[in-house]
Amino acid sequence: MIRLPKFRYYSPRTVREAVAIRADAGPESAFVAGGTDLYPNMKRRQQTPKVVIGLSRIPALRRVRFGSEGVAIGSAVPLSTVEHNRRIRRDYPGLARAIEEISTPPLRNMGTLGGNLLLDTRCNYYDQNYEWRQAIHFCLKKDGDVCWVAPGSPKCLAVQSADSVPILIALNARAILVSSAGPREVAVEDLYRDDGIAYLTKRPEELLAEIRVAKPDGWRGSYRKLRRRGAFDFPVLGIGAAVRREGLAVAEARLVLGGVASGPIRLTRAEEALRGRALDPSSIADAAEAAAGPSKPMDNTDFSVVWRKAMTRSYVAAALRDLLTG
Ligand SMILES: Cc1cc2nc3c(=O)[nH]c(=O)nc-3n(C[C@H](O)[C@H](O)[C@H](O)COP(=O)(O)OP(=O)(O)OC[C@H]3O[C@@H](n4cnc5c(N)ncnc54)[C@H](O)[C@@H]3O)c2cc1C
Repeated sequence: MIRLPKFRYYSPRTVREAVAIRADAGPESAFVAGGTDLYPNMKRRQQTPKVVIGLSRIPALRRVRFGSEGVAIGSAVPLSTVEHNRRIRRDYPGLARAIEEISTPPLRNMGTLGGNLLLDTRCNYYDQNYEWRQAIHFCLKKDGDVCWVAPGSPKCLAVQSADSVPILIALNARAILVSSAGPREVAVEDLYRDDGIAYLTKRPEELLAEIRVAKPDGWRGSYRKLRRRGAFDFPVLGIGAAVRREGLAVAEARLVLGGVASGPIRLTRAEEALRGRALDPSSIADAAEAAAGPSKPMDNTDFSVVWRKAMTRSYVAAALRDLLTG
């Protein structure tokens, strides 16, 4: 059995209290929501905070609010609550689908939407216990100085693997971040960097409070995920797709690729291939072809990289075909 290291645990009741504790405790501290990512990482000594600040008892972070602008989902809302919310299923079926595809029902009861957005990047050389990593002299992401995926690489190549991220970016969602300096709002798209270590633009002391998705207003989204098993497995390719049509023609499209790089990738050429055209087999095939170029999977997750790259076309096409019925 792998045990957690010792740490001090705080359970604040307000966001203000949580960010004050974080500011006092400094870089040796971390927020925890469901703990389905942080605690396994702590057991493997990948993350070793001395102070852990629990967010699950802060009522303000556990609300789903619908308003004239759209929906605001508290960061500590469990994934299963998002997944089963009737209005989310009706208005944002692509988001509900992405969440349904995360791990397993017990983990979706524990895991939260905010924790999913901030999920640590993953890699076959990193997601191992301490002794395994020690045997290879660790890796660039933690305790070592070589990226075993590409030993010449100056940066860590661990992979963005959160299922909600591609569809939230496709839906142009916004995130509210709070620190002791006050709140700020950013596009979810701008939360990420293509770097396996510094994969977030969020400052470490900032708490993710809320995720906002605008009213659908003609937009419809879908998510398709490639993984080995029908449950439990992380994505090794994830496609978030959203389009807004005027009449038969696609007025706007947003396509996002996850699970192949350290950050999510906007598929802008594929988006252009759709704009002004009917969503039909010809435009879908052109978009799928344009999506394959930027898809450069690395050999640090499941399946062969060649096959995953080839699957990009099929998965983009499938995500777009989902939208034909919307
Ligand atoms: C067996 C297994 C299978 C899994 N499969 C999948 C999968 O298929 N797809 C997938 O996407 N994920 C998967 N996960 C990962 C995880 O369960 C989910 O990503 C979940 O949503 C994480 O949420 P959490 O609340 O448990 O995060 P936590 O573990 O609580 O936190 C994750 C990270 O975010 C930080 N954090 C959390 N909330 C906040 C906040 N509000 N503000 C600032 N920082 C915060 C924490 O400090 C930590 O660094 C799997 C996990 C396991 C163990």
